[in-house]
Amino acid sequence: MEKNIIVYIETVDNSPVNVSLEALTLAKKISKENNKQVIAVLIGENLDGVTKKCFEYGADEVLYLEESRKELEAVGNALIGAKEKYNPSVIFLGSTINGKDLANIVASEMKTPAFIDVVALKYENNKYLMTLPMYGGNILKEVTFEGDKTLVIAVRSGVCKKEVFEGNSGEVKKEKATEKNLFTKIVDIVQEISESVNLEEAEVIVAGGRGMGSKENFELVKQLAEVCGGVVGATRPATEDEWIPRSHQVGQSGKIVAPKLYIACGISGATQHVSGIMGSNYIVAINKDEDAPIFDIADVGIVGNVMDIIPLMIEEIKKIKS
Ligand SMILES: Cc1cc2nc3c(=O)[nH]c(=O)nc-3n(C[C@H](O)[C@H](O)[C@H](O)COP(=O)(O)OP(=O)(O)OC[C@H]3O[C@@H](n4cnc5c(N)ncnc54)[C@H](O)[C@@H]3O)c2cc1C
Repeated sequence: MEKNIIVYIETVDNSPVNVSLEALTLAKKISKENNKQVIAVLIGENLDGVTKKCFEYGADEVLYLEESRKELEAVGNALIGAKEKYNPSVIFLGSTINGKDLANIVASEMKTPAFIDVVALKYENNKYLMTLPMYGGNILKEVTFEGDKTLVIAVRSGVCKKEVFEGNSGEVKKEKATEKNLFTKIVDIVQEISESVNLEEAEVIVAGGRGMGSKENFELVKQLAEVCGGVVGATRPATEDEWIPRSHQVGQSGKIVAPKLYIACGISGATQHVSGIMGSNYIVAINKDEDAPIFDIADVGIVGNVMDIIPLMIEEIKKIKS
């Protein structure tokens, strides 16, 4: 059996985050072809309920390290403990805000590079080939790493579609995380009051671009999202013009999404936007320019003015629902 693959399963409110399950599926696919073992690592408290999900999405074994401290330093220390136990070829994490920090903590402790924001990954000839945004996201470059060190790779959501492996099961090892004095201390956790938007987990996204024309018109995107039971996305120009907060931006320098349905309204289809939506199952595009590049990747294209089409769609969906 070749070296193991460790996947750190980040949890929020005792549930695994989507990108961790995507990383698990990715690891399982690599392991099946290369005779590796996938170890899902859970760190925290009250996570027994998560172990089942780990097996469903591809873990061969679950290492549950009990750690009551929430500091990333404590989580990182536990993850390093897991690394020492299994000597993996790679540690996968989700490229979330915490995941990125954790990847850097772990990699610096292990004196190995951390690859962050990986948007695509292949395993060929015993090497991990990773596609990464570089130069402030202006280019995407495929990189690899020569050597025998354990790699630390934080993958962006959409890197792999999560998949259930029916009947997959394994052993759960529950242990206490090794004690270590921490330099950091969380004194208080404050509930975030600013608007938060979970585009990465959304099944339906209705996104608007510069073609919406104004902040007032952008309300139509929100209304369509509401009747579809979806979440609002946007292109960079729409967020730069403050039609919608930056947290809604989809694309290379925004969020990478993988919904079942993505409706693009007044969006040209620039590479930097499209690279963030390629994981979508079904793309509907509305644009007045029949040559807009977005139509090259859309499953359904509607040539027309968003100000005419969106109200019609809202009306029809309401009729179907009533
Ligand atoms: C480093 C870098 C990172 C970037 N990251 C991102 C990113 O993460 N996300 C992102 O989105 N962009 C990003 N960009 C910007 C990106 O290059 C494009 O400029 C942007 O995606 C274009 O947004 P848009 O489609 O809304 O606008 P435009 O390209 O201006 O397109 C507007 C479209 O609306 C159509 N239209 C106009 N009026 C109507 C109407 N009434 N009805 C129907 N259609 C209409 C037009 O035909 C046109 O196709 C990045 C750029 C750089 C350099």
